[in-house]
Amino acid sequence: MKLKIAIQKSGRLYEDSMKLLNDCGLGIRNGHNQLKSSADAFPAEVYFLRDDDIPQYVEDGVAHIGIVGENVLLEKGKEVSVVEHLGFGKCRLSFAVKKGETYSGPLYLQGKKIATSYPVITQNFLTENNIQAEIHEISGSVELAPSIGLADAVCDLVSSGSTLFMNGLEEVQTILKSQAVLVKYKKLDPSLEKLLSQLLFRIRAVRKAETNKYVLLNAPNDSLEKIIALLPGMKSPTVLPLAQEGWSSVHSVLSEHEFWDRIELLREAGAQGILVVPIEKMIL
Ligand code: ATP
Ligand code: MG
Repeated sequence: MKLKIAIQKSGRLYEDSMKLLNDCGLGIRNGHNQLKSSADAFPAEVYFLRDDDIPQYVEDGVAHIGIVGENVLLEKGKEVSVVEHLGFGKCRLSFAVKKGETYSGPLYLQGKKIATSYPVITQNFLTENNIQAEIHEISGSVELAPSIGLADAVCDLVSSGSTLFMNGLEEVQTILKSQAVLVKYKKLDPSLEKLLSQLLFRIRAVRKAETNKYVLLNAPNDSLEKIIALLPGMKSPTVLPLAQEGWSSVHSVLSEHEFWDRIELLREAGAQGILVVPIEKMIL
């Protein structure tokens, strides 16, 4: 029995999806020219697909699990379960209008023509806000629509906003925040569920490691207490005596988001020779 995994064939989610699976030790060989590939080191098979098709494959159980953006998932409205948020492929779906227009709120869109590749999500937003507008569905280069007279506004994916800017548009309202998620077929049988939970265990270990750093430092013994309080670690920090009398080496784990603040406090508390090392896997 193999776990069939659907990922994007090429595009913005491809690299991160492959990296995640391979960091989990699956051993998937190049997929660029292949539509299907077997994992060397895990009972799994990977299908390389257009991201738009992934929800359908997983709903049907043709693929058991898949990695896809929440934006695509919501747009397609397929019956799949979201298992895990993966923290990459972050973007937002936003309305944008021509620079210089004053957008005072959704009412601005009343009676307007809106170009988008996400007609379902866009329509839901309009309905919720009691707005009648004409949605013009296009599959790409949405940001061009206003300048060629196809639409008054667009509803498109944005990450930095530079594409909109270059096309004379201004982002005025975000209607969805999205990232890549792991989804599964709703009726997975128990042996496949078991494989999925093994994979999920690895995914969590990899993601945890990515957001944490291993920290080693030297501390004078009289400031140890203060330093240990700043470094709770996984359980508690490791403290080893240095060859030099009166000093210890302290080892611990710090999460990325509190990292710089803590390092400053550690230095103030007397820590020296601070080394920061990436962690490959982290199992709690
Ligand atoms: P496919 O050929 O697979 O249909 P695509 O052109 O529809 O690819 P991509 O542009 O590769 O899709 O984007 C895939 C996903 O990456 C998006 O659906 C979204 O979840 C995410 N994403 C992250 N940042 C952005 C961005 N700035 N613009 C578009 N998508 C983004
Ligand atoms: Mg697509």
